[in-house]
Amino acid sequence: MDEETNTRIALVTGAGRGIGKAIAKTLATSGHTVLCVSKNESSCGAVADSINNNGGRAHALAVDVSDGNAVQTAAEKLGKDFGTIDILVNNAGITRDGLLFRMSDEDWNSVLETNLTSCFHWCKALGRPMTRNRWGRIINISSVAGVVGNAGQANYAAAKAGMIGLTKTIAKEFAARSVTANAIAPGFIRTDMTDGLNDEIKEAAIKFIPLKRFGEVEDIAHIVDFLCSEKAGYVTGQVFSVDGGMAM
Ligand code: NAP
Repeated sequence: MDEETNTRIALVTGAGRGIGKAIAKTLATSGHTVLCVSKNESSCGAVADSINNNGGRAHALAVDVSDGNAVQTAAEKLGKDFGTIDILVNNAGITRDGLLFRMSDEDWNSVLETNLTSCFHWCKALGRPMTRNRWGRIINISSVAGVVGNAGQANYAAAKAGMIGLTKTIAKEFAARSVTANAIAPGFIRTDMTDGLNDEIKEAAIKFIPLKRFGEVEDIAHIVDFLCSEKAGYVTGQVFSVDGGMAM
């Protein structure tokens, strides 16, 4: 809780661009103090500046979330500076695509460390004060690939499916302390991550989307905003697909 303003404090990883940036801005608009974390100071710093310049409250911190020690050090510093962080959104993620037989150990490990092990470290570091405080929200940004798999993304799909198992488990472990944990499984959302796909892949993807278009970053930010609110206090351990109907 931000004692000065009596508002909740939310930490969003990967807040420098795309979905994380939209989540950070939306949570700030809802009145939360937002801690924007990303790999490069320039990107999370610009988002925090933009929130502050538009009447919100935000701070930026560059952390490589794939480094467990860096996450622990950051969590300790943030705990000292801000007290209990009430809301954790694990959103930072990368892709290193390739068919299984051609996938290097390096590509497997970097995706697992950035997308999944990072969530373990943040949940461990910030979950304890949340449970002590008897209020908390954890939202993990998984993917449709973690729900149904995707050829060429063994590392990514395994990490995203792992996030779902982690979410359901911590939902059970933390429930008695009124800390909820939920996962979002976005489909194709228009960001830098999907801009990198070639037109052929984009056209093929749209064939599998019943709503016949890619989603927007706000489509994810709005459901995260709800799940972080008081209104969502009885929702935990769930996976919400926001994918234009892909996984129905
Ligand atoms: P994006 O535009 O590529 O942005 C990724 C963000 O993650 C950036 O802010 C980046 O930091 C940060 N990040 C990457 N590696 C990091 C690290 N090691 N340490 C700290 N921060 C790191 O991605 P996006 O499309 O918004 O995706 C956000 C999340 O949604 C990801 O977990 C992704 O898997 C998931 N998702 C996306 C889609 C989609 O269609 N876009 C679909 C399903 C799931 P910098 O800004 O500092 O570089």
